[in-house]
Amino acid sequence: MKQLDFGRADVELEVSAITILSDEEQGPVSKFQVFDRITYDSKIIWSSISGFSVEHRILKMVQWFCLFENLFSATCSICHQHLQIDPRTSQHLPPLWRDADIKGDGPCKTFHYGCLESI
Ligand SMILES: [Zn+2]
Repeated sequence: MKQLDFGRADVELEVSAITILSDEEQGPVSKFQVFDRITYDSKIIWSSISGFSVEHRILKMVQWFCLFENLFSATCSICHQHLQIDPRTSQHLPPLWRDADIKGDGPCKTFHYGCLESI
């Protein structure tokens, strides 16, 4: 694992909020459901790794965010479609669940929440 270097050892890091926005938005929330869902999930992940250092948590979050490089092209590993009605938002969304194996070198599997809930 790479060590994050923020330049100064005496600086204590703190993350006060995680918000995913399009490059045209300034926040505090996105007008797009897809980014709101990723924001929601990222807050859950951030909380789930609360026992680690902030530096480690930031590294893990960056690794997780990198899994979304194909957000607008990936198809679901179950239904093989790109868009599907999300059961929580009732909006058409791409597959937002990513395979949790961030150590693997191959492409991760992607899933719609509705497809995961139906199996
Ligand atoms: Zn699906």
